[in-house]
Amino acid sequence: MKEIPTIKIIDYGIAYCVTNGNEKYIEVNKNLFQYPKLFKRVMKHEMKHYNYKGKFDFWTDFLESFCFIHQYNLFKFQWKHPEAKESNRVFFKEDNGTYVNYYLLTIRLIMAVISIILLLILVYKILR
Ligand SMILES: [Zn+2]
Repeated sequence: MKEIPTIKIIDYGIAYCVTNGNEKYIEVNKNLFQYPKLFKRVMKHEMKHYNYKGKFDFWTDFLESFCFIHQYNLFKFQWKHPEAKESNRVFFKEDNGTYVNYYLLTIRLIMAVISIILLLILVYKILR
């Protein structure tokens, strides 16, 4: 039998799959219920996190970033509901503490390293 997650309504971000000790639940922005199609799509994504057994579910988010139409729909949602932009932050506050979005942190570190390498190549080409 499939486990049905507890859903908590929040008024920031888009949606999160939260693990808090033994407790695991999904948080959903209250405004997302106004968009049934987007809600269904977001829940499909969060359920992947929910059913993930390991510690750091990198690939679910990584592969999702290439679903451009979905990303555009999320962007539109954030445009209409600015409080949802909280989901783009590496460090964010919740009721019981500050959290780190490890996926965003990893991606941004990789991008920073690539940028520095490209910049060094450029500087090298100019000075040579
Ligand atoms: Zn995700």
